Amino acid sequence: MPHKHAVILLLLIVAGVLAGVAAGWLWGPAMQSVAWLGDLFLTTLKMLIVPLIIAAVISGVASLGDVRKLGRVGGATLAYYLCTTGIAVFIGLVMVNLIQPGAGLQIGDGEIPQKVLEKEETTAVDILMSLIAPNLVAAAADTQLLPLIVFSILFSAALTTVGGKGAHVIAFFNGVNEAMMKLVIWLMYFAPVGIFALVAARLGKAGGGEQFLAEITAVGWHVVTVLSGLAIHFVVLLLILVFIAGRGMDYLVGMLRALFTAFGTASSSATLPLTMECVRENRVDDRAVRFVLPLGSTVNMDGTALYEAAAVMFIAQAYGVDMSLGQQAIIFITATLAAIGAAGIPEAGLVTMIIVLNAVGLPLEGIGLLLAVDWFLDRFRTSINVWGDAVGAAVISRLMRWNNGKEG
Ligand code: ASP
Repeated sequence: MPHKHAVILLLLIVAGVLAGVAAGWLWGPAMQSVAWLGDLFLTTLKMLIVPLIIAAVISGVASLGDVRKLGRVGGATLAYYLCTTGIAVFIGLVMVNLIQPGAGLQIGDGEIPQKVLEKEETTAVDILMSLIAPNLVAAAADTQLLPLIVFSILFSAALTTVGGKGAHVIAFFNGVNEAMMKLVIWLMYFAPVGIFALVAARLGKAGGGEQFLAEITAVGWHVVTVLSGLAIHFVVLLLILVFIAGRGMDYLVGMLRALFTAFGTASSSATLPLTMECVRENRVDDRAVRFVLPLGSTVNMDGTALYEAAAVMFIAQAYGVDMSLGQQAIIFITATLAAIGAAGIPEAGLVTMIIVLNAVGLPLEGIGLLLAVDWFLDRFRTSINVWGDAVGAAVISRLMRWNNGKEG
């Protein structure tokens, strides 16, 4: 897409978000009448995800060449994900200790929210098991992306070992990948309207501006803690972008369309097609785009990790339970795991939080405290999730170029 078009589109998307907030604020529930427009956008994005991920990962892994390179790039990618997720959780814990958002909060007899009741069994082992699915078609139908990614990596690695016959198949998936990216570019033009509708309808569902404000102020310090933590992590990632990936502010500007889409959809998986397109336009090594981003969209969730740690500590404070340093270390580890296990869909983090709560013996009813504002905070943490993936792609891309230089 020519540069001028990208700028115009970005301005329209920003206008869409602002108009969505204004309309949802003023007209409240009436704005649910435009929900179908948002759903149309979201559904079309989702339609692209499965073929895009399969084609991108297969052609991306194949383009790395030999399997040893896959090991190196894969290792570096996972190390980056773990480090940045760890930093995010740490920031969340520091902020929640400083601000103490739950102290002095009055809590009544809560009930375990329905969403949580349905999922009570999630454990760390489940996260490991979610890497593989017995039936790929069923996984695709449920948009369980991780098994598809794992299969595509293995399949592509196998293709590179079977010579000429494999090359035809790789060429096929290269073509599919290019065509999918074309579809993404076409769909981008619908983003301003789609995001407007998504934001307006969701704020409308929350009852409009006044009701929303009342809900937010009830747990105001929790909102302040999470948003300021996310803002700090945003800056940390920016520093990583500048000092480790060697990129400038133009990279951030190039990513804004994807970040606003993440805000509108609250789903990093649904945003993935746009993330890939923006990173590609940002001249990141194409191999990193195709391999690092699909994996990152399901595994690397800095915003979610930060949120889970802060939210669980908030619940502990609200119940008057003191968390020792040892228990906070457990939160650190389980929040990282819970973020890895969370799917890139709206409010997934709320459900995987069970792992963290169980690990430190806090009541699941505590999640009820967060329900009213979770959809709102979800949008910010999803944007940070996508930002983390985008910075990761830039870091890995630099690493690959540096490595190539060394080899060449
Ligand atoms: N909505 C988030 C995402 O898609 C996950 C979460 O934190 O709930 O990235």
